[in-house]
Amino acid sequence: MDLTIIERVHQHKHLGVFLTSDLNWDKQIAHITKKVNLKLSILWQVKELSRHCLDVLCKLHVSASIDYCITVFGPCLNLMQIRKLDNLKYRAAKIVVGAQKFTSQDNLFRELGWETTTQRIKLLCLTQFHKIMHRQTTPLILECLPPLHFSRYPTRRTFEHYPCKKTFFMKSFFPMAIKLWDGLAKGLKGLEHNEFKISLKEIYKPSKFRHYNCGSKYLNSLHAQLRLKRSFLNCHLHPIGLSITPACKCGKIETVKHFLIECNLYVQAREQLFAKLDGLLEKRVSKYSKANLSHILLFGEKPHLSEKYQHNKYIFLAVQSFLCQTKRLVFDESNKPDNQADHHNHNQNNQNDPINPTQND
Ligand SMILES: [Zn+2]
Repeated sequence: MDLTIIERVHQHKHLGVFLTSDLNWDKQIAHITKKVNLKLSILWQVKELSRHCLDVLCKLHVSASIDYCITVFGPCLNLMQIRKLDNLKYRAAKIVVGAQKFTSQDNLFRELGWETTTQRIKLLCLTQFHKIMHRQTTPLILECLPPLHFSRYPTRRTFEHYPCKKTFFMKSFFPMAIKLWDGLAKGLKGLEHNEFKISLKEIYKPSKFRHYNCGSKYLNSLHAQLRLKRSFLNCHLHPIGLSITPACKCGKIETVKHFLIECNLYVQAREQLFAKLDGLLEKRVSKYSKANLSHILLFGEKPHLSEKYQHNKYIFLAVQSFLCQTKRLVFDESNKPDNQADHHNHNQNNQNDPINPTQND
């Protein structure tokens, strides 16, 4: 305009998103990581809050930071970048549940009803695409769509292919969203926006169980650790080298089922538990097989039915009181391998302080 030379830049932050000339999103991922790390450090300081409260905080702060504009850059992220975002979620999930180190990410996300980053990107892209298809966005955006596809034969394809078929382009919002859209059931596409979102969540999000939030923070996390297959039971410690044996003090393999149903070291606590369960479960305790009963104690009876919430809440409280009485889910020093003793002692105490359980919710 007035002969000013505009400086050429290779990176520009626009509305909070880092755009680079090579359209590699490393800078954006680093920005998200930094932001989420800060939030995780704050979350860690309030980790004794109830699981429900932490879950909400994570949604508001961690997930919101990751989700921001992810429909723009999400479709073209590489595996490494996706893994970095998943890892941020994983660390948040561990704080929410009070899970131990080396807990499986899949188990943890399923426990919380959280979707992975890949699932989240698909869900958000489809939600946005539904708005576009139903003319709920600015009309200008419709120009980005290729012409509609007409065929005499039954096909799921809605649009013609884009003329450019380079992988780099195909991994951007429109080609990816169109592909996902074509894969959806016909009945879904015509739904009203909110109903569409609900149906999508059923496809991409694992079920969330309200009764998993029951009980005091400490006992609730011990209970969750059993479900997550990463607790202080020897069958969980042995594979990761934190116990010299997978066996219980009674000599049998210390599985979750053994601990909850069979072990004769906890007969008294179990009698009290079964006495409570006899009034709670649909049938008498003796009518269930050991495997079924152990499954109910971990996950609840018919957990998918929302009307069973109160029922499952009381079952969970009874189980948690059993866990408290047995005092078994604290780290057993006597089984610790000698050569790693000091190192793991330090780690375990940092991770989950079993000596000072907090009983407050
Ligand atoms: Zn035993």
